[in-house]
Amino acid sequence: MARHLLLDRADGVSAAQPVRSDFVVDRPLNLHKERGQREVFCGLTGIIWLHRKMQDAFFLVVGSRTCAHLIQSAAGVMVFAEPRFATAIMEERDLAGMADANEELDRVVDQLLARRPDIKLLFLVGSCPSEVIKLDLFRAAQRMSLKYAPTLKIVNYSGSGIETTFTQGEDACLAALVAEAPEAAPGAAPSLLVVGALPDIVEDQFRRLFVQLGIPKVDFFPPRRSGEIAAIGPNTRVLLAQPFLGDTAQKLAGRGAVRLGAPFPFGAEGTTAWLKAAADAWRIPAPHFARVVESGRARAKRALEGPRETLQGKRIFFFPDSQLEPSLARFVTQELGMIAVEVGTPYLNRDLAGPELEQLGPETRIVEGQDVDLQLDRCRAAKPDLIVCGLGLANPLEAEGFTTKWSIELVFSPIHGFDQAGDLAALFARPIVRHARLKV
Ligand code: SF4
Repeated sequence: MARHLLLDRADGVSAAQPVRSDFVVDRPLNLHKERGQREVFCGLTGIIWLHRKMQDAFFLVVGSRTCAHLIQSAAGVMVFAEPRFATAIMEERDLAGMADANEELDRVVDQLLARRPDIKLLFLVGSCPSEVIKLDLFRAAQRMSLKYAPTLKIVNYSGSGIETTFTQGEDACLAALVAEAPEAAPGAAPSLLVVGALPDIVEDQFRRLFVQLGIPKVDFFPPRRSGEIAAIGPNTRVLLAQPFLGDTAQKLAGRGAVRLGAPFPFGAEGTTAWLKAAADAWRIPAPHFARVVESGRARAKRALEGPRETLQGKRIFFFPDSQLEPSLARFVTQELGMIAVEVGTPYLNRDLAGPELEQLGPETRIVEGQDVDLQLDRCRAAKPDLIVCGLGLANPLEAEGFTTKWSIELVFSPIHGFDQAGDLAALFARPIVRHARLKV
């Protein structure tokens, strides 16, 4: 359906333009696009939470020393534990011939598998260096899959900073993993597939709720073990748990699965609406749904009361980082009474974010992409009470007297569902309380 959105062109001229969109909001959105210098992590970062989720998987980054430093410093170097990620460093000598580089990669994989026979799923993760870009990791994964079948699956995706930002690494990983899912038998009973890496504790909470609702078959993607990848087909109903999984959603649609549109499960309202989308798809009677969610919803609302006292009426500015920003802005405005001045996001998938965008008022400027200098100027002019941004911007802004929250914490912490609503709200409230104490 065609709608009018306000767009800022790169030359700074605003123009009303019709933009195609498949979701319906009955008013113009204050939506802008920006291109310029970006301050975001690359998609390799996703390995930090993905390797914890998939317990028999291993992530082999094919990259440079920079890539090795990034994931080791971000994930912590585990000296005594056997980590489930590593970097095969492609030195310049590999440029002499791609056959050499392929042989080198095969040798590294052979060594790794000889030492770690417990690995059942190996991801070959591409990166930026030119010598890696020239390697065809897709074919390398196919070649090695044949060699090690059926005991080991080998899948490749790119976490390169040229192609991906931060959470897009998870999207690329899961999109590649869809190909490994078996085909659901024709006429298979309808099943629910919850998509997006969630901490085990959150997954268990959601599973219990779906069972209580009466949804008989629920699978999570990615699964904890590679042998548990759910079969996918036209009777699969997909509920995304993360808003940054656009490519994965498309691959699942390509297998015939149907996505259930919903806000994301943050806070009491977001979680209720997300569960309701599944309940409606299974035609679960409203009174039964209300009974099942009642206690969790009440717990979440109680947990939000304290942070709400701190945050009500406070102005918040989101720099683009994780693609969670529209969902978090919906949560802090609708459930904590904050005022979102600007919501930056690296990419905006209008179909996935539509139910969240509907809840944001016209005063909220939504910006897709980034020109960091322009954004910093707007942020300083707006003088928000709280700025959510990447690590690189946080310290300079704190030095200028602003209160900041590192957006990466919102990705690494369990924040989904009723029982994490209070923790999520506290992540926003704590910096404000700390700032107030320092002032006193
Ligand atoms: Fe490696 Fe590129 Fe990420 Fe740097 S941006 S760590 S070179 S993948």
